[in-house]
Amino acid sequence: MYPRAFEYFAPDSIPEVLELLSRYGEEAKLLAGGQSLIPLMKLRLVNPRILVDIGRLQHLAYVREEDDSLRLGALTCHTYVLESTLVRQRFPLMADAVSVIGDTQVRNWGTVGGALAEADPAGDWGPVVLALDAGIRCVGPKGERVLGMDSFFVDAYTTQVAPDELLTEVVFPLPSEGSSGAYLKLERRAGDFAVVSVAVQLSLDQKATCRAAGIALGAAGLTPIKAVEAEAFLSGKEIRPDVIEEAGERVFQAAQPLPDIRGSEEYKRAAARSLFKRAVEIAVRRYQGETLEAGHVH
Ligand SMILES: Cc1cc2nc3c(=O)[nH]c(=O)nc-3n(C[C@H](O)[C@H](O)[C@H](O)COP(=O)(O)OP(=O)(O)OC[C@H]3O[C@@H](n4cnc5c(N)ncnc54)[C@H](O)[C@@H]3O)c2cc1C
Repeated sequence: MYPRAFEYFAPDSIPEVLELLSRYGEEAKLLAGGQSLIPLMKLRLVNPRILVDIGRLQHLAYVREEDDSLRLGALTCHTYVLESTLVRQRFPLMADAVSVIGDTQVRNWGTVGGALAEADPAGDWGPVVLALDAGIRCVGPKGERVLGMDSFFVDAYTTQVAPDELLTEVVFPLPSEGSSGAYLKLERRAGDFAVVSVAVQLSLDQKATCRAAGIALGAAGLTPIKAVEAEAFLSGKEIRPDVIEEAGERVFQAAQPLPDIRGSEEYKRAAARSLFKRAVEIAVRRYQGETLEAGHVH
């Protein structure tokens, strides 16, 4: 199907983008990689009168280390994140997650900012930003602000980014030495959105005692969920099978999945618990120096 007619702008600068958003208000939509928006427009589920293509803001496509943080520009495509040595070495859970987004075309076109702004409850970036406690930078007519993870996701497909704002950058604090992580996504078939997914980031000492944990679930509710009780439970504990089991019960409780064609509520909760336990094991073994694949679970 063809989209409804729209007027197209391709501004070269952030001020021009903001001017267009202010001028046209809710009639305007930003277009980044188009991997979510174009299919929705073709189905006529979203019908913007004004399309503001931000693809020319290529200065917002970067992966860099700055001030003890990893910074991803909003226009960075998923593939570019995956190619970063810094990401693969210091943020293995991010590399796992990005490697299982859609297919090569989706990863080449889709952007970090677009995926976060879209806030698909089953998207792979949501659990990553929650588990790693990222900050999200936006700019609008009133200036710049940084949204924390306690408030970024509001509802399914809804974030705190206002219609007249542009998401510009995602900031991840560099994990302390002795940190490791893993992301696991249960899919019905490769390239599909998650049935359920789990991101685990652990900060460990030499005796495999957990100093801090970041745990987040995808496709387990209307927004990605931070499993705060499981995080608090693991903190200060030696990672032993009984401790993982107990923490897994807290993950099971934290999940609030909706039944759909991908599975029942009970099935998804049980899958979240099981993925969590496997992700912890992978994170600990990676911390001990093993090279292990993660990402897909079929
Ligand atoms: C076949 C297919 C399979 C996919 N599989 C997966 C998957 O397995 N996992 C997954 O996580 N995702 C998946 N996706 C989605 C993919 O990750 C997209 O890249 C992402 O959802 C949107 O990014 P985009 O750059 O294409 O954004 P667009 O489609 O251009 O925009 C999406 C929304 O975000 C807004 N927006 C874009 N950029 C900004 C910005 N900088 N500031 C404010 N608002 C902005 C737009 O106005 C629009 O509302 C899939 C997509 C397809 C087509």
